[in-house]
Amino acid sequence: MSEKRNVLQKKIELIFKDTEMIIGFAKIKEGQFFEQYQSALIIATPYTQQLSLSNYRESVFHEGIIGARQIVEGKVEEIESLLKTEGIKYYIPQMAQKDDGKFRAEFSFKDAAAEAGIGWFGKNDVIVTEKYGPRVRLSAILIDHEFDYPQPFETSRCPDNCDKCIKVCPGHALLNVSWKKGMTRDDIIDITRCIKIRSASYAKLGRWGDCALCFAACPYGNPDAIEK
Ligand code: SF4
Ligand code: SF4
Repeated sequence: MSEKRNVLQKKIELIFKDTEMIIGFAKIKEGQFFEQYQSALIIATPYTQQLSLSNYRESVFHEGIIGARQIVEGKVEEIESLLKTEGIKYYIPQMAQKDDGKFRAEFSFKDAAAEAGIGWFGKNDVIVTEKYGPRVRLSAILIDHEFDYPQPFETSRCPDNCDKCIKVCPGHALLNVSWKKGMTRDDIIDITRCIKIRSASYAKLGRWGDCALCFAACPYGNPDAIEK
């Protein structure tokens, strides 16, 4: 790693020192941002409420997401300030999925998180981290700079016999598939079934419900779990 690259990476890592957040750098190898940005900084922020099935409530889970968002927003501002000072081009991709029937975001935070060594795709089609399981909010900053890249996740670490997320899903959306790099979302989840469940509460809540039963059931990062 060149000295200059090393210095920027260290400065970014310093911003997250003494936090619970997990960060990783992914090389951008394809897609609409490939020509403009060399890397993605991926940030996994633990939800401020870490729920299991025994204490799961949608409203509390939603609070945990909002809490994580507030924490990460402050850190993203610090990184933006650093990158502006260094004169390095960056872009913060939108997390929202397009409501066009395909429900895809402009940049796959999850693909980049696996590439950045943060976690693997669980059988619930979300990134599972060793420490918090799937109970993290992912954020991304695309940066036109090279970094040292960690070993990516290329296969699932879900135990073969674990089907906790599959059994708990009220929409029967999960296909009980162990992820390998190269699989698509449709190999793992019937997204229309999941969206049917999450959008059902729109009239009542004024937003999609954060159905997260498949997060709460996961033994990784779950203080209630005896074994994985
Ligand atoms: S978020 Fe809810 S509906 Fe969607 S896959 Fe998970 S448990 Fe099923
Ligand atoms: S509940 Fe089990 S199968 Fe589902 S994501 Fe967690 S470890 Fe993987």
